[in-house]
Amino acid sequence: MAFAKKSSPRRFGRRKGCRFCADNTLKIDYKEVRTLRYFISERGKIVPRRISGNCAIHQRKVTEAIKRARNIALLSFTSNRTVD
Ligand SMILES: [Zn+2]
Repeated sequence: MAFAKKSSPRRFGRRKGCRFCADNTLKIDYKEVRTLRYFISERGKIVPRRISGNCAIHQRKVTEAIKRARNIALLSFTSNRTVD
């Protein structure tokens, strides 16, 4: 998949703008907030695949990473303001 070095970009259709497919060095990690930010709307929602341009595999990974990051943020958030 990712090893298409000198093949013509002809019949590769559909896979338009998945930046993770395009750039192998890009990591999908819940700690990589900067990367994840691209896929979160201003309201904190996950940007749908149509808009993000990710392929299914990576969109899924991004979604999982965002959820994980959210979870952690939530945990720290709730521990910050202890419920009395
Ligand atoms: Zn991809």
